[in-house]
Amino acid sequence: MRDKIVAANWKMNKSLPQAIELMQAITFGLKQNPVACKVVIAPPFLYLERVVNETKGLAHAAAQNCCSRNNGAYTGEVSADMIQSVGASYCIVGHSERRKLYAETPDVLEAKLQRCYDHSLTPIFCIGENHAERTENRHFDVVAQQLEYVLFNFGAEEVAKTVIAYEPVWAIGTGLTASPEQAQEMHAFIRKHIADKFGLELADDISILYGGSCNAQNAAGLFAQQDIDGGLIGGAALVADDFLKICNELR
Ligand code: PEP
Repeated sequence: MRDKIVAANWKMNKSLPQAIELMQAITFGLKQNPVACKVVIAPPFLYLERVVNETKGLAHAAAQNCCSRNNGAYTGEVSADMIQSVGASYCIVGHSERRKLYAETPDVLEAKLQRCYDHSLTPIFCIGENHAERTENRHFDVVAQQLEYVLFNFGAEEVAKTVIAYEPVWAIGTGLTASPEQAQEMHAFIRKHIADKFGLELADDISILYGGSCNAQNAAGLFAQQDIDGGLIGGAALVADDFLKICNELR
């Protein structure tokens, strides 16, 4: 049985007092009304340890990124080792903002995944096509390549420890969501592609999350699809009530 997961990506938002307020509202809501999914919160690095300590037993903490290298002379970077040492258990890898704005290549992403596996962090590996690729009908090829060039360089043992987030770039932060049918079609394709390479059993156990303007209104329709195992939530995760509603839509 694969995990059902709702993960919050706070990106570079919230001052410390605002982050604490949001975290407390989320933990209060989760205590009042336990949810049927795993909840993951990816705050900015500065607040990671606080999220670990203050959400214990209710949510898991995730880093939004990690360095592709081990500890050393890499000013400004944060290693998977450090992330593990503060008690976080997940790490987002390959978010489209990092691919685009920070030029993260398949080689870099492969190294980041390796660092996660080495330090027992579950990577949430993001893939997805951009607007031009979808309109030119290349979205399946693009997503297949994103899997092949990075994730498929690992063995079954590592792949089985990975969560995948399908995030069509044209839907991230734009208010344009993939329809439940469009998302399901791609999730089923991803699962089949993994099954072709690693077998049906492994593919069946992998959680594939949808991300891209998922919100309290459209989450139910998306989560009702058989290959959608939850969501990676950006904007809507910054408002506790909305995020809690989304978590409650996953049954
Ligand atoms: C994201 O950035 O991972 C994301 C899904 O953002 P949003 O929900 O705001 O589209």
